Amino acid sequence: MKTVRTIDELRPELAGEIGLVPTMGALHAGHRALFAAARRENELVVASLFVNPAQFGEATDLAAYPRDEEADARVAEESGVDILFAPTAGELYPDGFRTWVEVDDTGAEGAARPGHFRGVATVCLKLFNIVRPARAYFGQKDAQQAVVIKRLVRDLNVDLKVRVLPTVRDPDGLALSSRNSRLTPEQRAQAIALPRALEQGREAYTKGSDAVAATRSSLNGLTPDYVELIELDGATLLASAVRVGPVRLIDNVLLKGALT
Ligand code: AMP
Repeated sequence: MKTVRTIDELRPELAGEIGLVPTMGALHAGHRALFAAARRENELVVASLFVNPAQFGEATDLAAYPRDEEADARVAEESGVDILFAPTAGELYPDGFRTWVEVDDTGAEGAARPGHFRGVATVCLKLFNIVRPARAYFGQKDAQQAVVIKRLVRDLNVDLKVRVLPTVRDPDGLALSSRNSRLTPEQRAQAIALPRALEQGREAYTKGSDAVAATRSSLNGLTPDYVELIELDGATLLASAVRVGPVRLIDNVLLKGALT
């Protein structure tokens, strides 16, 4: 695996059908699943490692985001990544940068984090233009992000296929997230209420009852930012975000249909 930091260094390495996996690092088994799918389906696998300042509203959240490039490089290499693209913020947002992708209608997650999806859409379109992948890989865990990226690709005629892979979880059901490392043992124990409540919502849905209400009433004292239904290419997902101590966690379950 080769690590490159600039667009000029990256471009000569690009050849054949490329699978791109955008990440912010602190890599875990959720990222590994995306790397493995990209490895199976493409000739060349490029992973990006970039904590995108443009998608963070709170400076404290950006500063607290876990970073460990050495460990990430090991995980990426073990997972079959060919090229790790780890640019500086100045490489992607040089002086004079003034052009942004505006995203309308970003659902409850977008409302809770103003500007977040503008930052996500902008950095992803830049990565698509830099890497020119045949396929780009995203996790179901960030379901609204998958909706935004699929719509961006369609609306702006980007020539690639977006693949969305199922959420990877700890054995007790908590969705893996780079942010989980910031939870104390007590907070980790509280956080399990989120996937359990979503399961209650799914059960209610299968019985014809109100999935959102069932989720809300099962959160065991956690206050949700939102509980909402998300449409993703014909699939329906039940999604929620909660704060546990200083950490904001999101999760969702599939109610109907399938991911593509
Ligand atoms: P991040 O590094 O958190 O920006 O995530 C990079 C990609 O990995 C995104 O497409 C996420 O949706 C995906 N991802 C994060 N956590 C998981 C998980 N637990 N299971 C599957 N995919 C994930």
